[in-house]
Amino acid sequence: MKLKSLENLFVHELRDLYSAENQLLKALPKMANAAEDPELSKAFEYHLEQTRGQIARLDQIFDRLQLRAKGKKCRAMEGLIEEAKELLKERTEPEILDAALIAAAQRVEHYEIAGYGCARAFARMIGDEDAAQLLQASLDEEGQTDKLLTELAEGMINRRAAVAVPSSDRSEAAARDVTTDAGYHAGRDHDAGGPHHAAHEHAHHEPAMAGAPAASGEMH
Ligand code: FE
Ligand code: FE
Ligand code: FE
Repeated sequence: MKLKSLENLFVHELRDLYSAENQLLKALPKMANAAEDPELSKAFEYHLEQTRGQIARLDQIFDRLQLRAKGKKCRAMEGLIEEAKELLKERTEPEILDAALIAAAQRVEHYEIAGYGCARAFARMIGDEDAAQLLQASLDEEGQTDKLLTELAEGMINRRAAVAVPSSDRSEAAARDVTTDAGYHAGRDHDAGGPHHAAHEHAHHEPAMAGAPAASGEMH
């Protein structure tokens, strides 16, 4: 396709996103299977459902433009997924693999955020407000996913620190864990980290996602 107008570029971006999302449709179940942490696995499964919805939104936009819904191979997504596959082939400690999966997944989300952000801006510029709103909805989901992955990563770092000590010292480790958390969320009124903080910590890491299991408390 020749890119002679902003409309052409808009369609080019849509086809790139369509390809990227369809590649993810195949990759996300593998990532969910590979993840050791049940919350991370659920997050990937949840995002798989969102991805189906995002593809449906793109279908809707193509439909409105009276264009056939088809992708143009997104080589960037192909590369990002290839890197994730290489990770899965490595012999890695499960905790490390989960952190690596998050790093790979966040690269994907950031790529999508850029794609949806640009496509939405082009839609607005050419006066297609309906398409802009559909793209904004997907952009919001990618942003929420990125944020959730950050929360899971921060939680996991704390858990790894907790299991790195002998089991007889677990309660002490839990208190230390909360202190670390207070450092990250500077400004919350944690004090020196007594046992009552375990409940606070538990509630605090509840993921903002339907159907996810309660967060890290049980795992200490
Ligand atoms: Fe997506
Ligand atoms: Fe691309
Ligand atoms: Fe995504």
